[in-house]
Amino acid sequence: MKRKFDVRVNGNLCKKCGICVFICPKGVFSDDLRVDAGKCNGCRRCELYCPDFAVVVEGVRGERNEGSDEGSDEGRYEGTVAGE
Ligand code: SF4
Ligand code: SF4
Repeated sequence: MKRKFDVRVNGNLCKKCGICVFICPKGVFSDDLRVDAGKCNGCRRCELYCPDFAVVVEGVRGERNEGSDEGSDEGRYEGTVAGE
């Protein structure tokens, strides 16, 4: 499925509490907080529940059309996480 949403975790804000992993209905976040944005349905629960406002979800402009189901774009994990 083509990626419709961009999901970014700001590693400078994230404390790795795992709430987003638990709350995401689509399994976008892996346990080590890698992001598979191709699965995201844009519900924005992660933004809402992240206590540190570390997640940002945005629609990917110009890619709203359904069509190809090839590939899965990986999201980005920005910055570093304290303790790593
Ligand atoms: S909910 Fe926020 S702070 Fe917690 S692991 Fe996810 S991105 Fe990091
Ligand atoms: S917007 Fe919804 S589906 Fe997308 S990563 Fe956040 S919780 Fe998961």
